[in-house]
Amino acid sequence: ASFAHFSFDEGLMKQIRKSEFERPTPIQAQAIPAALSGRDVLGLAQTGSGKTVAYLWPAIVHIMDQEELQPGEGPIGLVIVPTRELAIQVYQQARIYCKPYNINVVCAYGGGSKYEQQQALQEGAELVIGTPGRIIDMVKIGATNFFRTTFLVFDEADRMFDLGFEAQVKSIADHIRPDRQCLMFSATFKRKVEQLAYHALQVPVKVVC
Ligand code: AMP
Repeated sequence: ASFAHFSFDEGLMKQIRKSEFERPTPIQAQAIPAALSGRDVLGLAQTGSGKTVAYLWPAIVHIMDQEELQPGEGPIGLVIVPTRELAIQVYQQARIYCKPYNINVVCAYGGGSKYEQQQALQEGAELVIGTPGRIIDMVKIGATNFFRTTFLVFDEADRMFDLGFEAQVKSIADHIRPDRQCLMFSATFKRKVEQLAYHALQVPVKVVC
């Protein structure tokens, strides 16, 4: 397998070449074509599998496929992660791959400055990475909204449940338009993860690595 199989445009390919990755990891080889075709994806993958770009690259393609990018609105792509550390890591990767495009990326996590996150969101963001509680807070204060969110990712779903974010995760899944595309990744497939998958995904492509 090679990255050329994904038919990404030159902007993304250039950033991938700069990353010096030799070839797609197994989760990328399986999840990316499914995500690019518009399917929901359920991925069982550990940290280190390359799962982050397996959803970030399709998120970027999805965002760039939108007809008009209107500034000052809520995210088209929303990535929900369990922790501040992961939010920052995903944000840093997103910044690298969004560089060739007119995509604003904003990160909002618990423990960070609410004021700064609110300001950043209000300026408009096409891609938002955040932790469940803080994202809900930001919607409640009107800093952002889910009106144009059509690409939703839950990363490390099992850890979100371990950390007690069940209600928040369900609430986010329920407040985003039903015609969205949804990708969910988890290292384990416990009952609660299974329930969320059943609840939030439509006939997902299952990827196990
Ligand atoms: P992740 O599982 O997403 O946390 O990624 C783990 C690490 O693997 C990160 O440092 C990525 O930059 C790196 N990585 C992602 N995709 C590839 C690839 N295709 N080849 C080599 N390294 C990669």
